[in-house]
Amino acid sequence: MAPDPLILVLDEGTTSTRALLFGPDGTIHGCSQRSIGSSHPRPGWVEQDAGEIWAATLSCAREMVTAAGGADRIAAIGIANQRETIVAWDRGTGEPLAPAIVWQDRRTADICAGLRDGGHEPTVADATGLLIDPYFSATKIAWLADQVDTVRAAGERLMVGTIDSWLSYKLTRGAHVIDASNASRTLLMRLDGADWDDDLCNLFSVHPASLPAIVDSAGIVGTTDPALLGGAIPIAAMIGDQQAAMIGQGCLTPGATKATFGTGAFILTHAGAVLPRSRHRLLTTVLSQVGGQRDYALEGSLFVAGSMIQWLRDKLGIIASAPETEALARSVADSGGVTIVPAFAGLGAPHWRSDIAGSIHGLTLGTGRGELVRAALESIVHQIVDLADAFAADGGRWTMIRADGGMIANDWLAQDLADMLRLPVERPANVESTARGAAMLAAVGIGLYATVEEAARAMLPPMRRFEPNLDETIREQRLDRWHAVLASELNR
Ligand code: ADP
Repeated sequence: MAPDPLILVLDEGTTSTRALLFGPDGTIHGCSQRSIGSSHPRPGWVEQDAGEIWAATLSCAREMVTAAGGADRIAAIGIANQRETIVAWDRGTGEPLAPAIVWQDRRTADICAGLRDGGHEPTVADATGLLIDPYFSATKIAWLADQVDTVRAAGERLMVGTIDSWLSYKLTRGAHVIDASNASRTLLMRLDGADWDDDLCNLFSVHPASLPAIVDSAGIVGTTDPALLGGAIPIAAMIGDQQAAMIGQGCLTPGATKATFGTGAFILTHAGAVLPRSRHRLLTTVLSQVGGQRDYALEGSLFVAGSMIQWLRDKLGIIASAPETEALARSVADSGGVTIVPAFAGLGAPHWRSDIAGSIHGLTLGTGRGELVRAALESIVHQIVDLADAFAADGGRWTMIRADGGMIANDWLAQDLADMLRLPVERPANVESTARGAAMLAAVGIGLYATVEEAARAMLPPMRRFEPNLDETIREQRLDRWHAVLASELNR
């Protein structure tokens, strides 16, 4: 009997690039990883070397091809990538023309402010589901073409793309493509438009000829140059990392919600095939495009989640390690009246207030480490409850929530989330949701499974379920206190 075909996933994150081997049942057969450097040449600037990203990705991929027993054993490649980051390269040489501008980079803040002042935000938001912000790709592309001599001089040789475009171009030696989920983060594609939008390209001063072709998230875009990995392997899926994680968690029906608790928290809710319009400052994004059909998602983020735990550890020194927070939270009956507003970097969705700072309320001489840690964890949960209300008001009522990320290893937090949301919270036994999502789409892309739902049935890991179980009076008291304190800070 022939051995099962394997799927190679390239998971290109902001701090590292990884290659993972998945079996058709979702089992992970191997993983290799390289870290990726970032440089900060000026305040607010964040750059990466696209050549380094490619070299690191290729060497991880080669390790996994060897581990698999050769390129013949690999049926498809799927790519999941950090979103919004922009690479510019030369069509002739295939080499980068400038450092990649990373999603975190704020250098185009003035360009964005100018466009907002010019009154363009409502139409852009309506067309793209995004806000005019340096975070998204368009102004990064315009900046490169305007400010970097080598990019400006490239003329018709200029090729631009996100990390999925860059890696697929290098692997195939020529395909210039971007999947619709990544394209939906550029500000240059209408959510309901199959191609780049001329008006948006004009507004952001981006030349459409330098842009990749927009393609499905699942489907073969080309095959790898045999000289690279020892065989011509189809590239069968490309998708942005947050969307990949959502699919890799099996959030495939409207209302299904994925919450990632890492340094920050990223929440996406499946919105179905009908384009949602947010009135509560949530983003709307393409979840995936398969067979030309798009599903959409609503998205909201908290800037601070796990980073608050790092602050308790590194700045306050009241814990030695992040996992200690679980026992400390359990060591007290409640937060002892302490409420933390974790606006360490302002507040993200749905408040979007960069002007307020964090604060701690309700301290007494009885306040100890346990109370502070518990209040810190509760503050994350309270913000998620507010986000759930904003999503519901925008037509994205959460029907189930699947959580991942380093912080959700904390069982107390997972239970509190279920209690306060009054919804079961499911946590996968294996937390590789991002890579798994790309593997599922690649399996669909080569026809191993007919649909993403079928791939999910075969490839999803077992979940641990946390059922809501908290007295409603206590829940309401907590939320009342949180909202009163939050209002005092927002209205200060
Ligand atoms: P990222 O992908 O953003 O780097 P991770 O998903 O690796 O983040 O999560 C790491 C974050 O989770 C850190 O900020 C850490 O403080 C926090 N964290 C890790 N374990 C726990 C835990 N048991 N309880 C609370 N927070 C935790």
